[in-house]
Amino acid sequence: MIPYVTDTPDISIPANLLPADGRFGAGPSKVRHEAVDALAAVSGTYLGTSHRQKTVKSVVGSLREGLRQLFSLPDGYEVALGNGGTTCFWDAATFGLIERKSQHLSFGEFSSKFATAAADAPHLEEPEIIASEVGTHPEAVAREDIDLYALTHNETSTGVMMPITRPRGAAAPADGGGLVAVDATSGAGGLRVDPEQFDAYYFAPQKCFGSDGGLWVALLSPAAQDRIAAIAATKRWVPASLDLTIALSNSKLDQTYNTPALATIFLFDHQVSWFNEQGGLEFSAGRSDRSSEIFYTWADNSDFATPFVTREEDRSHVIGTIDLDGSINAATVAAVLRANGIVDTEPYRKLGRNQLRIAMFPGIDPDDVAALCACVNYVVGALAQ
Ligand SMILES: *Cc1c(COP(=O)(O)O)cnc(C)c1O
Repeated sequence: MIPYVTDTPDISIPANLLPADGRFGAGPSKVRHEAVDALAAVSGTYLGTSHRQKTVKSVVGSLREGLRQLFSLPDGYEVALGNGGTTCFWDAATFGLIERKSQHLSFGEFSSKFATAAADAPHLEEPEIIASEVGTHPEAVAREDIDLYALTHNETSTGVMMPITRPRGAAAPADGGGLVAVDATSGAGGLRVDPEQFDAYYFAPQKCFGSDGGLWVALLSPAAQDRIAAIAATKRWVPASLDLTIALSNSKLDQTYNTPALATIFLFDHQVSWFNEQGGLEFSAGRSDRSSEIFYTWADNSDFATPFVTREEDRSHVIGTIDLDGSINAATVAAVLRANGIVDTEPYRKLGRNQLRIAMFPGIDPDDVAALCACVNYVVGALAQ
C-alpha cells in the first residue's frame, strides 16, 4: 500500500474545545444520529420492502404532508418528488417547465449550471443570463418574453443568500407573467420563504434536511402545474425519467416513477418531522440564524478572518465563507481540523480562495459552530508558534 503522505502539522486540539459533532460539510452534510437510530429501529420492517406498498408509501405521504406544513403551502400547491437530485431536476425543468425562454441569475457554480442546461437545450431559445461577481447576487428583471425566472435561494459555492421575491413589476403567472423557479437545494429548511413568491421551489435532502442525496423535491404552485400540463399538451419529446407529468402523477400517489432510496426518504422525513415538532420553519431557520450570528460575530472580531461576502444582508445563514489573512494557509488549517475530526471545512474548490467554508444547516448545533470557531483560533495560534 502506498503510504498517505501529508505535511499536515501535528497539532492536537484539546478535547474540551472540540465540537460534539465534527461534520460541517456543505453536502452531504451532518445526518443526525437520532435519525439514523430511528432508521435502524425499523430496518427489519421498512428497508428492503416494496416502494409500491403501504409501509413505504406512508413514509412518502408523511414526508409530503410534513413539507406542506413546514412551508405553509397554500391550497393547490403540490409536493412532487423524483430520483436524481437537483441536477436531474434542472434537466426535467428544461424539458417540462420552461416554455421558450428563461432568465437566470448566475452568481456562482450552482446557479450557472441550470443556465447552461437551458442554453444547451435545442428546443429552447437562448436564455437571458444576468450575472454578478462571486460574493454578490444579481436581481431579476421583469420582461415580457421571459416565461421562467430561475433564482437560487442560497449559492452554496460562495455563501451568498438572496431573498425570494417575484421580479418587481412582473405580471403574475395567471396573467401571463413568467414562473419563478428557485433552486433551494442548500437553503430550503434553513431560510425563510413565502410560497406566494415562487412557483417551483426545488431542493435535495442532503443539506438542511440531513439525509442522503439522490432525490429531488419540488413544491409546485398551481401555475407551475398548469405549465407542466400545457407543455405536455404540445407533445414536446421528454425522456420518461425526466417527465414532470409522470413525476407529478406518481407523487400524488406517494410514489416515484422508478425505485427511490428508501433510507434517504426515511431520514428526510425524520428531519422534517423534527423541524415541525419543534416549531416549523421558524425553529429550523432560527437554528441557522443563531449559528450564523455566532460565526460572523467571531469573524468580525478576529484579526485574521474576514467574511468573504461584503454585504451583511447577503451573508448566508446556512453556508459561511471566511477568507483568512494571507499569512495563514487556509488549506493547512482545514487539514489540521480534519486530522482532529472536524471535517469538510475546505472552500468550494473552483472558487480558489484562501478560505474556510462551513455549513450552518439547522441540524448542526449552534454550540458546535461556536466550538469550531474556538478550534480555528487554537489552530491558527498553534501554527504561529
Ligand atoms: C448541492 C447543490 C446542488 C446540487 O445538488 P445535487 O442533488 O447534487 O444535484 C444544486 N444547487 C445548489 C444550490 C446546491 O447547493
